[in-house]
Amino acid sequence: MTLNKYIRDIQDFPKQGIVFKDITPLLANPQAVKECMALLINNLQDKNIDKVVGAESRGFFFATLLAHKLNAGFVPVRKPNKLPYDKISVSYELEYGTDKLEMHTDAIKPGERVVVHDDVLATGGTAKALCELVEQAGGIIVQCNFLMELSFLNGRKKLEGYEVYAQLVY
Ligand code: AMP
Repeated sequence: MTLNKYIRDIQDFPKQGIVFKDITPLLANPQAVKECMALLINNLQDKNIDKVVGAESRGFFFATLLAHKLNAGFVPVRKPNKLPYDKISVSYELEYGTDKLEMHTDAIKPGERVVVHDDVLATGGTAKALCELVEQAGGIIVQCNFLMELSFLNGRKKLEGYEVYAQLVY
């Protein structure tokens, strides 16, 4: 199965010049999701993962599925003022703008082995911020895991030193 065909390119969304990678066709197809999961999880099965961290909001979909398959916990990292409990936060840059991300202080325990997941690796700002949050909490990053990598934006460079896996590279 070619997973490519379940990713829909939307020109100029959310603003001029951006080609938005829409994963809703993939999410709507259970066979494609199953196949996608098998590939995403391929080299994580024997790595004793304690937590899978997902970035709001499109990172949540596959991060929760991955956590379930790996028998690990799921941790949501959210935009400001969404999480109800005590938080740590970090600022980051997006392909289109800047923002802040937050995580609960008790979400990761020191020494826990963590996979961070998002749908798209673009400039790498979001993923770097996820890694910083996990490390602030004392977690160990085992892998940065993505459905897609926009390689022309060099996000991997920002993640130097971390294992990076992207299923589809554009
Ligand atoms: P970045 O921090 O630049 O690596 O951007 C990654 C974040 O922005 C991810 O959470 C993506 O969901 C979103 N994103 C960036 N570029 C795109 C794109 N072309 N299509 C869909 N989502 C994107």
